[in-house]
Amino acid sequence: MAAQETRVITKFLRDRTDDSWEFAVAREHNQAYSALEKALGMEPAQLVEEVTKSGLRGRGGAGFGTGQKWSFLPKDVFPRYLAVNADEGEPATFKDHMLIERDPHQIVEGSIITAYAIEAHHAFIYLRGEFALGAERLQAAVDDAYANGFLGKNILGSGFDLELIVHRGAGCYIAGDETGLLSSLEGERAMPRIKPPFPAVQGLYAAPTIVNNVETMSAVPHIVDRGGEWYAGTGVNKSLGTRIFSVSGNVEKPGNYEVELGMTFRDLIEGLAGGVAGGKQMKFFIPGGASSPWLLPEHLDEPLDMDRATELGTMLGSGAIMVFDETVDPVLVAWRIAKFFAHESCGKCTPCREGSWWLEKVLYRMANGLGRADDLDLLLSFGNNISPGVTWPPGQTTICQLGPSTMSPTLSLHKHWGDEIRARLAQDAERRTTLEVAAG
Ligand code: SF4
Repeated sequence: MAAQETRVITKFLRDRTDDSWEFAVAREHNQAYSALEKALGMEPAQLVEEVTKSGLRGRGGAGFGTGQKWSFLPKDVFPRYLAVNADEGEPATFKDHMLIERDPHQIVEGSIITAYAIEAHHAFIYLRGEFALGAERLQAAVDDAYANGFLGKNILGSGFDLELIVHRGAGCYIAGDETGLLSSLEGERAMPRIKPPFPAVQGLYAAPTIVNNVETMSAVPHIVDRGGEWYAGTGVNKSLGTRIFSVSGNVEKPGNYEVELGMTFRDLIEGLAGGVAGGKQMKFFIPGGASSPWLLPEHLDEPLDMDRATELGTMLGSGAIMVFDETVDPVLVAWRIAKFFAHESCGKCTPCREGSWWLEKVLYRMANGLGRADDLDLLLSFGNNISPGVTWPPGQTTICQLGPSTMSPTLSLHKHWGDEIRARLAQDAERRTTLEVAAG
């Protein structure tokens, strides 16, 4: 059977030809806020239990158990906060962008349910600054929710109060790190903080805070509506439910696809995204955003399973799959990603600040035929200072994950084409020496 999407959180926005998203339409076609009505009839602890039972794991990148995260809040410590991470800055990830623009009420509803479950009375949606249309629609959705009694004082007569604020970020990658996001919300530069303490213990304004991703929030109303057991009955192993994957690069049909976890990369890339464009062969693919190490065509029959991805030395990360055909030079891709991370390093830790800068310089010369014979080993030695051992899952000498992420492209070059690249560098070096001699 041909590969198919399983539309749960994208059902409303995909299954209608009418692209409207406003309150009345969302109420009529997606029963928006009906799960909230149900949730308010439950005890907060029951909701935490239901979401834990569902096995939902964070969809932002780290893949931590959502209910488990909520249960880490220290008992009887108030106030507490919810911060929804809508910063989506991982290159090639565009799923949250779609959810924000085309189904903002689902996010608002999931956020209200989550705030109720964790007993928070203030919640923030931290939105990537560049998402202008998303900001407009999300704010309109929040205004509608206030106007219809789903936000504010005594929501639907339940006695529960919640203020929800849409906060636009200033546009940097590192604001997507949960502690960088909290620093930014507090009005500081979005610099990540050392953990522990984790945000659940000491987060926004030093109070217990839960940071959850947009897609995670969008799944919550469905779990409340249909039950944790229903959700846990889908997916594979400990990767349960559906996920939206943003497929881009050299494919016939790039786009967002919501699929049940456990589907193979092949069914997603070749079945749903139409395979490599122009009848070319695939050279490699990046399975989980620019931060993740790369996979080869031989991995296409592996399942979309977060733990299996770890065994393969990579991650599903933010759900961004980038496909590259046989004409692409992997060294050039590695350089471009390294340039991005060097630009986005906040500079707080020396190994990341200095290392990312040097990685970019050396990869640039390698990609442009100016490499030295030992450049790949030089990169690995830089990497050892950032991510000791240069392995996966990565070791870390830095405050946040951006540091080790800078090494993923180099790690991939070394693992998949190490001998080939060393031979190419030796040839480049020899050619340059010959030219220098000829030039006198
Ligand atoms: S790892 Fe890099 S981005 Fe993260 S805190 Fe350190 S310097 Fe900043």
